[in-house]
Amino acid sequence: MKKSRQDKAEKRTEGKVKPPKEPRVHRYRRKQRSTSIYFLVWAIFTALSLLIVLFCGIAQQITVLRAYKDEAAHDINEKGRLIKEELQRGAPDWTGGNYSGFLRFLSRSHDVNILLLDENGVVLFPQEPHFDPSAPEIEEHLNLSKELQIAVQKMQEQGSETVVYEGEREYVYASKTEFAEDVEFYLYITKSTEIIEAASENMGVRTGLLLVFTFILSFAVSSAVSGWLTKPITEFTEKSRRLAEGDFEVDFRGAAYGRELVELADALNFAKDELSKTDRMQKELIANVSHDFKTPLTMIKAYASMIIEISGENPEKRTKHAQVIVDEADRLTSLVNDVLDLSKLSSGMEVLQKNAFDLSAYTYEILDRFAYLKETQGYRFETEIADGLYTCGDELKLGQVLYNLIGNAVNYTGEDRIVYVRLQKESDTVCRFSVTDTGKGIKPEELNGIWERYYRSKEMHKRPVQGTGLGLSIVKTILQRHGLEFGVDSKVGEGSTFYVYFPLLGEEKTGKGE
Ligand code: ADP
Repeated sequence: MKKSRQDKAEKRTEGKVKPPKEPRVHRYRRKQRSTSIYFLVWAIFTALSLLIVLFCGIAQQITVLRAYKDEAAHDINEKGRLIKEELQRGAPDWTGGNYSGFLRFLSRSHDVNILLLDENGVVLFPQEPHFDPSAPEIEEHLNLSKELQIAVQKMQEQGSETVVYEGEREYVYASKTEFAEDVEFYLYITKSTEIIEAASENMGVRTGLLLVFTFILSFAVSSAVSGWLTKPITEFTEKSRRLAEGDFEVDFRGAAYGRELVELADALNFAKDELSKTDRMQKELIANVSHDFKTPLTMIKAYASMIIEISGENPEKRTKHAQVIVDEADRLTSLVNDVLDLSKLSSGMEVLQKNAFDLSAYTYEILDRFAYLKETQGYRFETEIADGLYTCGDELKLGQVLYNLIGNAVNYTGEDRIVYVRLQKESDTVCRFSVTDTGKGIKPEELNGIWERYYRSKEMHKRPVQGTGLGLSIVKTILQRHGLEFGVDSKVGEGSTFYVYFPLLGEEKTGKGE
């Protein structure tokens, strides 16, 4: 009875082996030149903190200085306005008409330098009546024609009679004004920018000190952080080395913290478990293979001795004994071939010779090899093989797969000795090959293990077809290298179905379409 697709899909989930990606060749480079994480963390950390401090320092310098300057401009503007008003009201009586004294008084009380200039920039007030105006030391203080020129130019540019601007080392308030008697003056008020410059310098020094402090701090912190980060990695390296030397007792967990490191530890532990399993199985294989080699060799030797000593003269017995020798030599040959096949396949040395071939005809061909079992041991092969299904792959290797799977079914099928072989189209692009037996089935906990390299059932089983315990491992390796999907569905007490999905070739690719 045909089962639904869903049933099939459900069954397929158990024991299914997904084809892996193309094998990659990894080489362990012993001395790879690279910068240590310790240095990288330190360098990045230090550079980053220095940059942040530098950025903050510069930003502070710019914003604070800007604020200072804006404030200074605003301040001198305000003071200039007040002073101008006071001057326009004229010197109060208490000054005794001493205009120069009044200006000096205003200068002191507003903390600015106030001058009244004529249109040529000559200082009119305040005057120092006892000074010699022609003395060179005084002259440059009394003649501000250049400064006035700049102020007048700014007034013209701004179309205003009052300007405030930053001079070389001072803030300037300049205003054209008329006092009594309609005489034109220029009120020229200055305030030194020294305080701002000093503040800026001070800030520069503080930023510099902060940079040094940050450098030292980041050195200390980054050393601690990088040490903390690299410690488990260094431990992993040490443990990996021990693992490479064959110490499977190492445990990568211990020192790991941080999700990524825990994941790495888990992955390494998994790799360790796999390696130790492979190592154990390899040792078991050597023991098994040596045992399997020894049995036929002992038989060959014993029967050869028997021919020499006993049956040499008796043709009937001699032929019987010689046949045993031939059979045992065949067993040895197939054992050696399996070991060689597996080692070549898994090392990736063997290149697949892919070509298109008739899978239907080939399946019949493989089945023919088991024909002798029908006559000699009463096996029955029930086939449902669709005709003309072409696929692409290494014909010989895929033949080995079919042979091993059918051989296993023969070995493990039940008392009825029936083996079902099916090859049916699944879709336009895929066909499914399956072999079903009616044997004991495989326990769920063994389903994954049977594909393992060197796995061999503990239970002794009488096998009509010779097995080396490597068959399914060879099947898995060949199918994985082809990138084909395969698996096993099994029910204890009912039997097992091993299946493979092959790609179907269209007629044009098989050459039949032409
Ligand atoms: P061998 O059959 O030579 O022991 P294989 O690699 O072909 O080696 O199979 C590995 C193991 O898988 C077998 O020892 C057996 O336990 C199990 N196995 C394989 N095919 C079947 C099957 N059709 N039914 C039950 N068990 C099987």
